[in-house]
Amino acid sequence: MKAIRLIKSGSPLEAQEIAVPRIGARDVLIRVRAAGICHSDAHYRAGVSPVEPLPLTLGHEVAGVVEKTGVDVAGFTVGDRVCVHYLVTCGHCVFCAAGTEQFCRTAQMIGKHRDGGYAEFIIVPERSVFRLPDEIPFEQGAILMCSSATSLHALNKARLRSGETVAIFGVGGLGISALQLARHFGAAEVFAVDINPGKLELAERFGAIPVDASVGHPVAKIQELTDGRGVDVALELVGLPVTMRQAVQSLAILGRAALVGLTRETFEVASYSELLNKEAEVIGVSDHLASEIPLLLDLARTGKVDLSHGIIATVPLEARAVNGVLDRLEKFDEDGRVVITP
Ligand SMILES: [Zn+2]
Ligand SMILES: [Zn+2]
Repeated sequence: MKAIRLIKSGSPLEAQEIAVPRIGARDVLIRVRAAGICHSDAHYRAGVSPVEPLPLTLGHEVAGVVEKTGVDVAGFTVGDRVCVHYLVTCGHCVFCAAGTEQFCRTAQMIGKHRDGGYAEFIIVPERSVFRLPDEIPFEQGAILMCSSATSLHALNKARLRSGETVAIFGVGGLGISALQLARHFGAAEVFAVDINPGKLELAERFGAIPVDASVGHPVAKIQELTDGRGVDVALELVGLPVTMRQAVQSLAILGRAALVGLTRETFEVASYSELLNKEAEVIGVSDHLASEIPLLLDLARTGKVDLSHGIIATVPLEARAVNGVLDRLEKFDEDGRVVITP
């Protein structure tokens, strides 16, 4: 089969002809119909986050059709439409047993630690496979499993309750999903903070109150819009110390800031005035849980989470096309999601 693979970190991906993976008793072989090209894939190609072992097929946002099932697979049959939870976990360690399988000691991320979806076929254990409802196109099913799932996990970690206010710092793909989810969970008001006019406009169309961080201070603006109270929940989706600080500063008494954006840098917090005195919380968010996926798929099926605006193009399973998308992602030149449709 054809696969687009990382051969050497820092070099363009290459097309290789490799054997269709052999199926184990509990595995499902999936014919890939859509694989999202994610910003993380640009980091993997560049070697910013290490990919092992090389060569490896990238792609962790995958939807397709069941081609073959292992002898012990009971939940799926050939022809089922499915999407893939990108973590392959053991199912029996303390973290898996507690439903926090993102910390599984043997967890492997597809497209980073084992072959991913930039290929004609992918093999994953049944445990990581979810049925994709007919109403959700393959392209949307693929990208749901990364950005939207992370947004849902962030809101769960922040314990958003109906009637609370939310500020979202960064309204790209994750942010628009977070906005729709927050509104579905009954958020009273959602403030969308960004510097990109197009993103602010889209957020406003989905019911957010836009806060343009390129004019004036976003924290002051949020304070003004909430009569000096601040927000109950702030989501930081950018990964910059400055926006992390702003997320904390925008919190109300008993507010929770969930940090999703990645950075290795530190950020400052005024311990008394910004945390202790308000009993505010800063919460780290990493990946998402398999147990969150069924609700997410149901919200997408019923149109409560609409991703149709997010996909700007599809490309064939060809190294040149995929490298071109990764080049643009590296330069932040891509305004939406591009999905490979083999
Ligand atoms: Zn992704
Ligand atoms: Zn485990």
